[in-house]
Amino acid sequence: NFSIQLENKSNDELGELAESIQLLSNELNHLKTERNEFLASISHELRTPLTYIKGYAEVAKREHLSLDERLDYLIVITEEATKLTTLVTELMELAQLDNNTFTIQKEMFYVSDSLKKISQKILPAFKQEAKKLLIICPENIQIYADPIRFEQIILNLLENARKYSSKGTITTTEISKKDTEIKISIHDKGKGIPDNDIPFIFERFYRVDKSRSRELGGTGLGLSIVKELIDAHNWQIEVSSEINKGTTFTIIARGES
Ligand code: ADP
Repeated sequence: NFSIQLENKSNDELGELAESIQLLSNELNHLKTERNEFLASISHELRTPLTYIKGYAEVAKREHLSLDERLDYLIVITEEATKLTTLVTELMELAQLDNNTFTIQKEMFYVSDSLKKISQKILPAFKQEAKKLLIICPENIQIYADPIRFEQIILNLLENARKYSSKGTITTTEISKKDTEIKISIHDKGKGIPDNDIPFIFERFYRVDKSRSRELGGTGLGLSIVKELIDAHNWQIEVSSEINKGTTFTIIARGES
C-alpha cells in the first residue's frame, strides 16, 4: 500500500504523476503477458514429450508384441524422458539465473586449460557425427571469469555449432587478445540463421525451425542461458550468419587482466 499527497500539487505535477502511473501500469501489463506466454511455452514443451511417453508406453503394454518391437518403443520413451530431463534442468538453471541472489565466482585462469576440458567433453559427439572441431588458442591467455559458467557458455555454443551443421564440416573456435579485450569466436559451416530470426535467437524457447530443432533435441533455452551468463560477466556476444554458409558467435570479454 502506498499513498500520495495530492494537495498543493499543480496541474503540471498531477499530469506528470498520471503519466508515471500509466507507464507503470503498462509495464505491469507487459510483464503479466510475458509471464503468461512463458508459462504457456513451458506447458507446451513439457506436454509434448509426455504425450510421446504416454502413447508409446500404452503401445508397449500390448501383449502380442515381439521383444524387438517392445525395445523400439522403450528407446523412444527413454529419448523423450531424456529431453524432459534436459528441459527441466535448463528451466531450473534459468530460474536460478533470474534470482537476484545469483552470483558468479570469478577467478583468473588460462583459457587454453578450460578449452582442453571442454574439447574432451564435446569431441566424442563431433567425431560420432564425422564433424571436425578446431581450437586455436594461444597458451598464455588468461581470463577473469567464473570457470564453471565459462565452460557452460562455450559448451552451449559448440553444441549448437555441431547440431546445426552437417557431416564433414568443421567448427573453428579461435581466441585472441588485444590489450584487455579477449575475443572468442565460434564459427561453424552449418545451415546459418535467417536475418529475420537473428534478433530473437536469445529469447526463451525461440527456435528457427521448430520441428527440426525438436528432432535434434533442442529446447530453445540454450542461447537464453548463454545470454544471461554473458550479461552476468558484463561481456558482449555478437552473431553473424549466412544461410547455408555458416554462423559465427563472437564473445567480447573485458576482464581485469
Ligand atoms: P535449441 O535448444 O533449439 O538449440 P538455442 O536457444 O540454443 O535452442 O538456439 C535457438 C535457435 O537458434 C535454435 O533453435 C536454432 O534455430 C538457432 N541456432 C542457434 N545456434 C545456431 C547455429 N550455430 N547455427 C544455426 N542455427 C542456430
